[in-house]
Amino acid sequence: TPIAVLASRIRLEEKLILGALEKRGAVLDVIDSRRHPFRLDGRELPYAGALSREISHTRNVYGTRLLEHAGLTVVNSYDVISLCGDKLLTALALQDARLPVPKAMVSLSPDHALDGLTEFGFPMVIKPVIGSWGRLASRPKDREAAETLMEHRAALASPQYQVVYAQEYVDKPGRDIKAYVMGGEVVGVIYKVSDEWRTNTARTGRAERCDPSDELVKLLVAVAEAIGEGVYGIDVLEDRDGRFYVNEVNHTPEFHGAVEVLDTDLVGAYADYVLRRLPS
Ligand code: ADP
Ligand code: ZN
Repeated sequence: TPIAVLASRIRLEEKLILGALEKRGAVLDVIDSRRHPFRLDGRELPYAGALSREISHTRNVYGTRLLEHAGLTVVNSYDVISLCGDKLLTALALQDARLPVPKAMVSLSPDHALDGLTEFGFPMVIKPVIGSWGRLASRPKDREAAETLMEHRAALASPQYQVVYAQEYVDKPGRDIKAYVMGGEVVGVIYKVSDEWRTNTARTGRAERCDPSDELVKLLVAVAEAIGEGVYGIDVLEDRDGRFYVNEVNHTPEFHGAVEVLDTDLVGAYADYVLRRLPS
């Protein structure tokens, strides 16, 4: 039985995963989420399950829910994608599990956020609750910078940008940690090294291999357990004293950059994990 792959753009990552799945004998049927009409009449779809590699968060949320409604197991699940796709909801879930996250505050509108932000304290990081590649994440250093930032937010049309999510700035040693955890197992860990404070490899971040300490491995396993069954790229910030803070959990992890520096076969592990979850 074939495996459905929900995707819109097939990037290098998707090519690698699909190649590894096919090498393992899987038959794949790519569903272009932009073109596929989904019927809601509860027909069982002829698939062993589905892998989602959709890059649009909205399409991912609804697409996985529709596939689950049609009876399929989806990697990752709708529950995981809707939780991890929202940085605020993720932070709350991690805090409920007593895991370390950066100190944070939320204002549900930018209009009167300034006093609360000032009291929270600078420097801080203000970022959209939904989004990736570091887009629109900013680091106002004082009240004046925060004020214009709030004016910009108020001018944006999308309701999701009206939520102001601020975190303490974690002063880090020029790098962050990105860990790949699949089915509760830590498969590979890299540092993202950059001169910029946003170390995303989609920006200027350069991958270096990280040999995780037992403490870090324990934290990563606990994060995956708190979120649930799935495949994850977990962002961890480390301060200059070596304390860890879980920053976010990526549910459709990118790994360009990581594959080149890791000894472990990240792509093979991804494919093996998918086949374990979706037995044909
Ligand atoms: P994205 O989903 O866009 O990757 P992140 O929350 O991971 O959003 O922010 C992008 C990058 O900005 C992170 O990878 C990290 O390098 C940096 N960053 C984000 N939040 C903080 C913070 N509170 N302290 C220090 N650096 C941060
Ligand atoms: Zn990130």
